Amino acid sequence: MTSIGRSTRPGAALRSGRVWRNFAHNQRAVPARWHRPRTEDELVAVVRRAVEEGLTVKAVGAGHSYSAVACTDGHLLDLSDYDRVLDHDRGTGEVTVQAGIPLWKLADELAARGRALEVLGDINVQSVAGAISTGTHGPGIRYANIASNVTGCRLVDGTGRIVDLRAGDDPGMLAAVRVGLGALGVLSTVTVRTVPAFNLHIAESAMRLDRLFAQLDELIDTTDHLGLFWFPGSDVVLVKQRMRTDEPARPRSRRDAWLADVVVDNHVLDLACTVASRFPQVARSIIAGASAKRPHEWVDRSDRVFCTPRTMRVLEMEYAIAREHFVEAFERLGRLVDRLGTPLPVPVEIRWTKGDDALLSHAHERDSVYVAAHVHHRQPYDQYFAGFEAIMDDFDGRPHWGKLHFQTAETLAPRYPRWDEFAVARHRLDPDGRFSNPYLDRVLGAPGRIGDGP
Ligand SMILES: Cc1cc2nc3c(=O)[nH]c(=O)nc-3n(C[C@H](O)[C@H](O)[C@H](O)COP(=O)(O)OP(=O)(O)OC[C@H]3O[C@@H](n4cnc5c(N)ncnc54)[C@H](O)[C@@H]3O)c2cc1C
Repeated sequence: MTSIGRSTRPGAALRSGRVWRNFAHNQRAVPARWHRPRTEDELVAVVRRAVEEGLTVKAVGAGHSYSAVACTDGHLLDLSDYDRVLDHDRGTGEVTVQAGIPLWKLADELAARGRALEVLGDINVQSVAGAISTGTHGPGIRYANIASNVTGCRLVDGTGRIVDLRAGDDPGMLAAVRVGLGALGVLSTVTVRTVPAFNLHIAESAMRLDRLFAQLDELIDTTDHLGLFWFPGSDVVLVKQRMRTDEPARPRSRRDAWLADVVVDNHVLDLACTVASRFPQVARSIIAGASAKRPHEWVDRSDRVFCTPRTMRVLEMEYAIAREHFVEAFERLGRLVDRLGTPLPVPVEIRWTKGDDALLSHAHERDSVYVAAHVHHRQPYDQYFAGFEAIMDDFDGRPHWGKLHFQTAETLAPRYPRWDEFAVARHRLDPDGRFSNPYLDRVLGAPGRIGDGP
C-alpha cells in the first residue's frame, strides 16, 4: 500500500529511537528529541535550542492527521500538558487558551461558562492548534471552519521570538496563521470567538439519491448543519440534519449512544469492511441491518451532537470544491466507483461550509462542499484515491491539509488566490525552514525561496 509523504529526512546521529505514529498508523517518524512543555518559556527554549543545533521543530497535537503534516525528525513538542484556559472575556465572549488544549476539554470548559464553539467537526480529540492549523471544519453552509473564529494568537517564530497577533493589528498575518499547517511557528496561545451555549436537534434518515437530489438545495440552505453519508455503489444516503434549538436536552440513553456510535459506527462497520472483499453482499446486509436499529432523533448539547467517537482505523482523502460543482462531481464519483468494482463499505461523507478568508483555507473565499472518501486501513487506496483526486482536480479542488492527497506546490498554488502572501508570511516568520518537513516542502515548496515561485 502506498504511503504518501513519510518523514524521510536524515538526522540519524541524534535519533531518540522512539517512534511517533499518527492515529491511523499510516505515518511514522523518529524525532531526535521529545519535549512535553508546560510553559511558554519552555516552548521558546526548545525553538532556540533547535536553532543552535540546526534541527527542525514540530509541535504535534493528537496526531489525527492522515497526512505527514505533523512528522518530524527534529524536536517534537508534545503539547498535551499545555492545555489550560487562560482567560474568558465576558464582554466579547472570547477565550484565550493554551494551544494544546483538546477540543473536548475546551467544550467542557466553555459549557461550564455557558458558552460553546460555533461549530465542530466529527470528533473532539484534536488539539485546538492542530484543528485550526489544517483547516478542520464541521458541517453547515452558514458556518466556516473552526479557524475562522480565531481572533488572535501568540506564536514562537523560527528565531525563537514571540509574535503576538491580534486581528486588527495585522489582519494579513493572522489570515496566514489561522490555517498555518504548522509552517509558520509554534502556536503558544490562541484566542477564539465563542457563542452562547446551544443545543442541537439531530434527525437521521435514509434517503434515496433521486429524492435527495430533488430537494438538495433546500436541504443545504435550510439545515443548520447538514451531513450526508453515501454508501458507494448504492443509491442510498444517510442524512444527518442538525438544527439549533431552544428545546431542552433529550439525550440518547448511554446504552443507545454506545450502540449507535461505538458498536454500529465502529465495530460493525469494521466487521463489514473485513468481510467486504470476499462477501460484498454480506457486508451490505450487515450495514443495513445495524443502521436500522439506531435511534433516529434526539436533542443534546451541541458538541455532543457534532462529535462522536471514531475508533475504527480508516484512511481518508477529503476535498473542498465550490458548491455549484457538487452534482457533477458526485455523478462522476458514482461512475468511478462502478468502474473500480471494488467493495467500498466505508461511506463517503459530504458536508457544506461557508467560505472564509484564511489564506490557505480549503474554503478560501468560496462556499464549499467537502467530499471525503474513506477506505478501511487494511484496504489498498491507490486507485480509488487517484481517481477521486482526478475528479476533484477538474473542479479546482483543494485537499484537506490533514488528509491524504498527491498534490505538490506546483499543482496547488493556482488554486489559492493569495498563495504568494502565505509564502511571504512563511519567509518572514520562518526564514530558515525551522518548522518544515518533507510534507511541507512538497505542498508549500522548499522554504526560503521567495521570488523563485513554488
Ligand atoms: C477520525 C478522524 C475524524 C476527523 N474528522 C474531521 C472533521 O470532521 N473535519 C475536519 O476538517 N477534519 C477532520 N479530521 C482531521 C483532523 O481534524 C485534522 O487532521 C487535525 O489537524 C488533527 O488535529 P491534531 O490535534 O491531531 O493535530 P496533528 O495531526 O497532531 O497536527 C496537525 C498540524 O497541526 C500542527 N500543530 C499542532 N500543534 C501546533 C502548535 N501548537 N503550533 C503550530 N502548529 C501546530 C502540526 O505541526 C501539524 O502541522 C479528522 C481526523 C480523524 C483521524
